[in-house]
Amino acid sequence: MSGIDTLPPLREVIDSHGIAAKKSLGQNFLLDLNLTAKIARLAGDLSECDVLEIGPGPGGLTRGLLAEGARKVLAIEKDSRCMPALAEIAEAYPGRLQVINGDALDVDPLEHLTPPIRIAANLPYNVGTELLVRWLTPKEWPPFWTSLTLMFQKEVAERIVAAPGSKAYGRLALLAQWRTEARIVLHLPPEAFSPPPKVHSAVVNLTALPEPRFPADPKKLEQVVARAFNQRRKMLRAALKGMAPDIEDRLIASGIKPTDRAETVGLEQFCALARNLAES
Ligand code: SAM
Repeated sequence: MSGIDTLPPLREVIDSHGIAAKKSLGQNFLLDLNLTAKIARLAGDLSECDVLEIGPGPGGLTRGLLAEGARKVLAIEKDSRCMPALAEIAEAYPGRLQVINGDALDVDPLEHLTPPIRIAANLPYNVGTELLVRWLTPKEWPPFWTSLTLMFQKEVAERIVAAPGSKAYGRLALLAQWRTEARIVLHLPPEAFSPPPKVHSAVVNLTALPEPRFPADPKKLEQVVARAFNQRRKMLRAALKGMAPDIEDRLIASGIKPTDRAETVGLEQFCALARNLAES
């Protein structure tokens, strides 16, 4: 028995509802409810918050979030086979779980949730990165959420928290560290999942800063770092050549040597360059 609620063990839920993991949906389920409760606790104090969960699957993390006291959970799941299992959880926590059978990329959570909102998810890699970049780059800041607690492949988690000069440093590190405090809070081996993936995983916690560390337009910053790291071995005057005819002068004005490579340049300089390029 789980210990966190009176619902059946997850293995039983999966068997009785026929939710065999599908590779096409990136399904690697967490079946240990002690572990999902731990991840829910890593999401912070949920008692005064609504929680957005993406990709609940059979509902292991969902159960953790509800048991940890989330005011309300909105769970968006693409796989309709998971709906009956999630309906059972909704019944066990009356009025606290809303499930949407759809693609997380198409749903506006603000139509359903009231701030403060925390986001928690164990998502497939491609969708996770796309959503993360979307959550980090709204025009206005602070965003609609106060924290993100997200499972990634270990390698992606390391890219989010990487420091300048390291191999993992790039677009994700810059966008994440610009507007949030980002930390790896848990490492998980493949055996923690069913079926086990080929790689190790890690949970990253990102807390929204009240203001970005340095001013910059999000779209411009995203564009600059994407270009700079697309050709990370090139000097910046070459990698960013297409961005402005006088790119060398703009690099110098932003405190960057035109012969520097992207991986040695810090957040403050990239923000200065994004501001300079926005002036035109
Ligand atoms: N949260 C569950 C757990 O920890 O056991 C399931 C994790 S599994 C890695 C990812 C889940 O995301 C799957 O249930 C999958 O169907 C769902 N999913 C994949 N793409 C999605 C999308 N675009 N929108 C919503 N859910 C999605």
